Amino acid sequence: MADSIPVITINHRGVARLRGGHLWVYRSDLAPPTEAPAGALIYVRDQRGRKLGSALYSSASQIAIRLLTSNEIAEAELLPLMGERIANAVQFRQKVARDTDAYRVIFSEADLLPGLIVDKYNDVLSMQALTQAFDREDIRHLVMEALAEPFPGHSLVERVDPHIRELEQLPERQSRLVRGERSSTIFTVNGVRFHYHGLGGQKTGAFLDQRENYVAAARYAHGDALDCFTYHGGFALHLARVCQSVTAVDSSRPALEVAEQNEQLNRASHRSGEIEWIEANAFDLLKDYATAGRQYDTIVLDPPAFAKTKRTAPTALRGYKELNLRALKMLRPGGVLTTCSCSFHVSEAEFLEMLGSAAADAGRQVRILEKRGQAQDHPILLNVPETSYLKCVIISVI
Ligand code: SAH
Repeated sequence: MADSIPVITINHRGVARLRGGHLWVYRSDLAPPTEAPAGALIYVRDQRGRKLGSALYSSASQIAIRLLTSNEIAEAELLPLMGERIANAVQFRQKVARDTDAYRVIFSEADLLPGLIVDKYNDVLSMQALTQAFDREDIRHLVMEALAEPFPGHSLVERVDPHIRELEQLPERQSRLVRGERSSTIFTVNGVRFHYHGLGGQKTGAFLDQRENYVAAARYAHGDALDCFTYHGGFALHLARVCQSVTAVDSSRPALEVAEQNEQLNRASHRSGEIEWIEANAFDLLKDYATAGRQYDTIVLDPPAFAKTKRTAPTALRGYKELNLRALKMLRPGGVLTTCSCSFHVSEAEFLEMLGSAAADAGRQVRILEKRGQAQDHPILLNVPETSYLKCVIISVI
């Protein structure tokens, strides 16, 4: 059997990467350049024939190889290994996902299941294959079976990102319900309720990685609050429980419509102030409000990833600085800024440096209250830096 498994040789750069604990080998590090079937289990060897382990192969991605294990396993061992890893991932979430019925069940590399994302929204699971391997019929079937056991009665939606399917040269497919009857539900995070629509025009997910940061931001929040890039109101709804007034801004009308529905959903159970939802470009709005002399006690900045590649990081940092500078200028003494970046290509050190420079330009002294990252259901695999992407810094203006 082992004979039928393709062997791929990699150069010293690829070897160094794997020896350093990373799981990826780029196509340019295959030596000689080799092809294997899309999504195949392969063995990885160095140029002297030494065994480096078993991996999943992509015939399309620049990330040609994603290591699964440092052993050479038989094809028959592949699905059982994945089943075991899914069970481990589920078990880990039982320890770390508190006060929520929505969390990331499987986070790709960080769960040693490189190419698979599964999120849980109350009684609906959403599954996404990022690679050819996890799009294989047998593997998809295994994943579905392995999830049915710990999550009985849950519906399962398969989410499709057309861009990723194109990159992996996978046939086009629509997002669809693959098990159960429901693709929409209501989930509860820290006692705050949200709508989830897995399919249809109003397709929504949530930024589950911010779950713990909502609580942290609310811990220091007070007075008049401004939530920029609110999406479905994640921060705003948490702030509304403790602040006197909340203004929430997003450039997407559909996102704000869901946010308003979420506000309705929580109105009965919480004594919270009304939220003003504003459709606007946050850059323009901050500029206008600053010029108009508006002031706040609490500001949240959670923009989309500005840096998609290392090359765009400097431009991204300029964008972050502009936002943070304006926000800092508008904070009253004692005011608190919760500021985030989900760009992997901007490091925490660079983000802090940007923040320091924004504070200096704003003529404010600031104190760091908390340096935070993504919620624990999005674990970080230490030697795969790409698994660590979210920065959330909470600072107060003196
Ligand atoms: N804070 C949210 C997640 C924000 S995601 C949460 O915790 O759930 C980023 C959001 O920024 C998206 O909703 C997007 O519509 C919005 N956005 C992107 N560019 C924008 C801009 N220039 N001005 C305002 N909103 C913008």
